[in-house]
Amino acid sequence: MARFPGVDYLQFDSLLNEQELMVRQTARQFVDDRLMPVIREAFNSATFPKELIAEMGRLGFFGANLEGYGCAGMNNVEYGLIMQELERGDSGLRSFVSVQGALVMYPIHAFGSEEQKQRWLPLLQSGEAVGCFGLTEPDFGSNPSAMRTTAEKHGDAWVLNGEKTWITNGSLADVAVVWARTSEGMRGFLVEKGTPGFSASDIHGKLSMRASVTSSLHFAGCAVPEENQLPCAKGLKAALACLSQARFGIGWGVIGAAMDCYETARGYALARKQFDEKPIAGHQLVQEKLAWMITEITKAQLLAFHVARLKDAGKAEAAHISMLKRNNVAIALECARLSRDLLGANGIMDEYPIMRHMCNLETVKTYEGTDHIHTLIIGERVTGIPAYR
Ligand SMILES: Cc1cc2nc3c(=O)[nH]c(=O)nc-3n(C[C@H](O)[C@H](O)[C@H](O)COP(=O)(O)OP(=O)(O)OC[C@H]3O[C@@H](n4cnc5c(N)ncnc54)[C@H](O)[C@@H]3O)c2cc1C
Repeated sequence: MARFPGVDYLQFDSLLNEQELMVRQTARQFVDDRLMPVIREAFNSATFPKELIAEMGRLGFFGANLEGYGCAGMNNVEYGLIMQELERGDSGLRSFVSVQGALVMYPIHAFGSEEQKQRWLPLLQSGEAVGCFGLTEPDFGSNPSAMRTTAEKHGDAWVLNGEKTWITNGSLADVAVVWARTSEGMRGFLVEKGTPGFSASDIHGKLSMRASVTSSLHFAGCAVPEENQLPCAKGLKAALACLSQARFGIGWGVIGAAMDCYETARGYALARKQFDEKPIAGHQLVQEKLAWMITEITKAQLLAFHVARLKDAGKAEAAHISMLKRNNVAIALECARLSRDLLGANGIMDEYPIMRHMCNLETVKTYEGTDHIHTLIIGERVTGIPAYR
């Protein structure tokens, strides 16, 4: 399996310390050795490569930027570089790790009781348990504040009713972090697989994120004990705090997909000859596309790096992360489209990763806040005027 050489136009690596370079190398090698040989078949057969879960746990990828409970306690640049390398392999694998770490471990870590942390974080960190995050509903995607799922207190239990959909890892999960409306506002609950009244069914027919499990979750009189409520998750802002963590990882991850498309197209353009045995890379129109891609990838790297350092310093705002997610997803998608073009007919083949990345990135543009929603968050940040309604 060919080794990925990295993409570094502007000496980006000079910004990274030894530890950060070592973490990236570990993730890069894992993707080259373990994911690349299986991803084509996994995507084609719409299966998630579950056999990689335990190994990712051993490598410390789950909840890598959290402290304690067996977590690796990495800084946010190290965490971001792991996401970048994983998504260079496939957005589905990065999504698995994002959900496990940012949307399941983070809320337990930030809002859970000590008992919840002790019980779940070591299991989720090692990959012995899998988690999912249920916020979206059939009628409420961009506007989760209007959700219909309810949790009512009956004695010592909370009883959940409703439906969540488009849930990554849904049917794989041992524990679901579920957001529901209560008489005191929105709250988060831990719902374990096998709880009576709770079931998950997979969504089939996806042309994007095929190597990722996506499910609907159904709650019909599903009673969970009082101690399964996340005690410090009060209101929608708790769920949004989780989304900020995941969006940050996406902002890094998509750089990997863009790099893979760019490197594939650059290599192809140097080898492919048309018109008088000249490599197509020697034509100005082709170089213009490569120049655009490398410029945007470099800007995306610098944006991600800066937001990570701000996050490490406790200064990253949700609106900063919106800019990172929106910009980097948009340029990654455009890199995929331009790269596909440069490969001509070959660009549509699964022998190359480009079309797979392109299809995946359509999901990444939509989930964790659509491009429009992040535009509105940035718009509100610079004008002070919310324009969502
Ligand atoms: C593969 C996949 C995995 C996912 N995983 C998860 C998960 O694990 N957990 C989870 O909870 N959710 C998950 N989601 C759901 C995802 O977060 C939602 O799809 C997303 O929030 C958008 O919601 P929607 O699809 O209902 O689109 P809608 O909200 O209906 O939006 C449709 C269009 O309208 C636009 N729009 C909506 N409101 C406005 C507005 N005010 N101004 C301008 N434009 C607007 C949107 O930008 C978009 O273009 C996943 C989705 C996919 C596809």
